[in-house]
Amino acid sequence: MVFKPIVLVAGLAFATAVSAQFDPQGSQVTSYFPQVADGGSASQHWITSLTFVNPNATLSVTGTVNFYANNGSALALDFGAGPVTSFPIAIPPQGTVVFTTIGAPESVAIGWAVATSNLPVQGVVQYRYSVNGVPQQGVSALATEASALFRSPASSTTGVAIANPSLSALGVKIAALDPSGVTVTSNTVTLGPLGHGSFTLSQVLTGLPANFRGTVIVSTTAPNTYAVAWTLSTDLGVLASYPPSALNWPISQYERISKVWQKVLGVAAANYPLGTAPRLVIDPSVGQINSFASTSLNEVHIFMNMAELISDSESELAFVLGHELGHIIQTASGGLQFSSNTERDADGYGLQLALGAGYDPYGGGGALAKLAMASSTPTLINPGFDNIQANLGTDPHSSFLDRLGVIFQSLQSVCLLPQNQALCGMYKATVHSHFPLNAPL
Ligand SMILES: [Zn+2]
Repeated sequence: MVFKPIVLVAGLAFATAVSAQFDPQGSQVTSYFPQVADGGSASQHWITSLTFVNPNATLSVTGTVNFYANNGSALALDFGAGPVTSFPIAIPPQGTVVFTTIGAPESVAIGWAVATSNLPVQGVVQYRYSVNGVPQQGVSALATEASALFRSPASSTTGVAIANPSLSALGVKIAALDPSGVTVTSNTVTLGPLGHGSFTLSQVLTGLPANFRGTVIVSTTAPNTYAVAWTLSTDLGVLASYPPSALNWPISQYERISKVWQKVLGVAAANYPLGTAPRLVIDPSVGQINSFASTSLNEVHIFMNMAELISDSESELAFVLGHELGHIIQTASGGLQFSSNTERDADGYGLQLALGAGYDPYGGGGALAKLAMASSTPTLINPGFDNIQANLGTDPHSSFLDRLGVIFQSLQSVCLLPQNQALCGMYKATVHSHFPLNAPL
């Protein structure tokens, strides 16, 4: 196999260079709103507002919002232009869009909403109710992530909303724990595909003492299933929001992977002729740690076990996904850019795409070191899976150690490229401001 010589693509403008940034909390590509309420009688009349903010300084957001009723069917709501079950959103860089229901239904319409977008957006939902036309109370909450586990402060009157983001039936266990951490009582609720339910804790947990105070845990009953949940304090008859209760790492790996993927893919698509955007496949199989790119299927596969190996760092995840995207770019562009070795070249893409998406390229060293650590144990990793030994023909050592040995040089090379110099400088000034002056970033 003949490799093309290293080609530094001068003039490759990193369109997102100045927008490298970290996402604000609550910023997701799939934003779940576990409760919407609209209309009702004059004695308790509800409206719901959805606000979306695009935190990106240079890129526009496009997306879609869908509404579902308790039974999972499409829910029509009127935002002023007639009832709709979904609508598109388009948000300019750093822009905001707000959608507010008009409260048309005579009996209150209850359900939930899912917003999907090409880039992470910050989503906020507000609920307000009025009595005989006089506004009474309102509460707002951040869009939540899907998770296998939620935990929130609770009393017997705490409101709980749950939803099923999947197309299969979902079992959800709701448990009340007293201040000593002892389970007082629990119940299991089954939601149909895209189904939803909302209730007070005492409604779903019969026998819960009226003076109960402690925590509520909402968890899915089967492995690799995810729910959407939200809690609302109604103590003393006053609505008050609780913070998002989804437990993040390592519970919501799917959302983490897809968020990092969207950002890295966005940088790749803005700078390389990818054609049809590759599809991400997240594989929950239990087995040897792996990720790979299929250029024939135009897919990047990442196994959950790979995400779990590097699960404490989205920067390491960005490097791995960028590496696999690099293989797609190698095929699309018909050559190598950073190295005459396929794997090291893909590592160059991993560093560059992670940097462009606002992640720390030093995560490349972290990911390779963890893979090297695991690769001496065949029960963890297939030693030959990325074939660098075959490519080099001579290297008897772990391919990950070999790549780890040159990753800092690769980082220096990436930052020497004219199109990356400003970004490396900005990243160093803001994130690594105490590094030695001669560090590349
Ligand atoms: Zn590779």
